[in-house]
Amino acid sequence: MRYISTRSESGHGPGLAFDDVLLAGLAPDGGLYVPEHVPKLSSELASAAGSLGYSELAARMLAPYVGDAVDREALEEMVADAYASFAHPDVCPLVALDDDHWLLELFHGPTFAFKDIALQVVARLFDHELERRDDRAMIVAATSGDTGSAAMEAVAGRERIDIVVLHPAGRTSEIQRRQMTTLDASNAHAVAVDGTFDDCQDLVKAMFNDRAFRVETKLAAVNSINWARVAAQIVYYVWAAGRLADERPVTFCVPTGNFGNVLAGHYARRMGLPTERLLIASNTNDILSRLIKTGELAAHDVVPTLSPSMDIQISSNLERLLFELFDGDGAATTSLLAQFRAEGRARLSAEQHRRLRAEFAGDRLDDRETLEVMSRVHADSNMFVDPHTAVGIGVAERCRRPGELVVTLATAHPAKFGDAVERATGSLPDAPPALAAVADRPERCTSLPNDIAAIEDFVRSVRRG
Ligand SMILES: *Cc1c(COP(=O)(O)O)cnc(C)c1O
Repeated sequence: MRYISTRSESGHGPGLAFDDVLLAGLAPDGGLYVPEHVPKLSSELASAAGSLGYSELAARMLAPYVGDAVDREALEEMVADAYASFAHPDVCPLVALDDDHWLLELFHGPTFAFKDIALQVVARLFDHELERRDDRAMIVAATSGDTGSAAMEAVAGRERIDIVVLHPAGRTSEIQRRQMTTLDASNAHAVAVDGTFDDCQDLVKAMFNDRAFRVETKLAAVNSINWARVAAQIVYYVWAAGRLADERPVTFCVPTGNFGNVLAGHYARRMGLPTERLLIASNTNDILSRLIKTGELAAHDVVPTLSPSMDIQISSNLERLLFELFDGDGAATTSLLAQFRAEGRARLSAEQHRRLRAEFAGDRLDDRETLEVMSRVHADSNMFVDPHTAVGIGVAERCRRPGELVVTLATAHPAKFGDAVERATGSLPDAPPALAAVADRPERCTSLPNDIAAIEDFVRSVRRG
């Protein structure tokens, strides 16, 4: 299996193997890596998907993407180990909302949001590859919410990786901060920066742009553009369809921010999973659902909502889909994105828009509508759902056709967003013991000014080896 960049010219070179793509993240030309060919889901695996355990299915589905880079036994071990820490024996259980509408719960991992599913595997793959190369890495990241704690939890205790996560002091929720600061691992470090989330992101960019520092500290990233994260997310689409074992092809409804999750659904479909449609569920920051409706990418200002992990205007993973809509023409993809960055808008051709609409539909919910869904689901099913999941449920209900089988992806545990749940339903959901425990554990956090020299000194000082 070889990978190419979304910005490579046609007639590109031989491509990279999985291990290089894993460690590199972004391609040197600024593009994102995509597999040169999409492996087909064998009919044997498709029919076994309903009876295999989750990690067994994951290892078998990841194997063609990993290729020769990791031997099969090691892959199976890493995947089994990654999902052993999940609080539910099914890893990603399905729960019925009604006869034809199911929730796929992706939030039973150690930090109670769906980022765990990919990051728990990716951190192990990273460590394994660094071991083989006798090398080390320092992961740096900025977070405003779920990604930071999921990455820290996944890296905690890994031999060859250290991690530093920057968050804006006083601007994350209490529970999100505590998930980072109460982690008991000597190789994972939370830093509160005196600044905004954008300042944190700029500091991370500045570290990567400081070439001498980057080489000295062996800087690396595990952000959502890393192909391995997308690959690990393809699994639960196949898993859900296998478990439902319905004759009808499934429609998946996906609460969307950076387009990583729904892109994995698109790859499941390209692998041969019978899929009716993919529904893109947006909050008020609805650039993606507008793109599906109008064929135009048009940026608006980011508005803070009750579903903060979807408060995004430029969805980085969309580039992978655009590359397909341009039939693998990297130059044309680059030029559309450049136009979008320069002018804040860019239009697909009528033919590209038609192809997009053949597979995707979507809509948006504002905060008031999101609270309404949370309240109604609680009244009808006695179930709490978090605001991200509620956006998905609301969009699924609006878009579904009679007789369509719909699976909505539940991306965060309701107890992670207790304030919104209480506002909508009047009660607080029970927190799982591991989440409740963060309230009592001592916090460990370093406060630093918004100053690149201070941040780089800190990273140097905590680096092992
Ligand atoms: C990250 C996240 C999303 C958005 O996922 P993308 O892959 O960025 O589209 C949705 N819900 C929750 C809870 C998240 O943490």
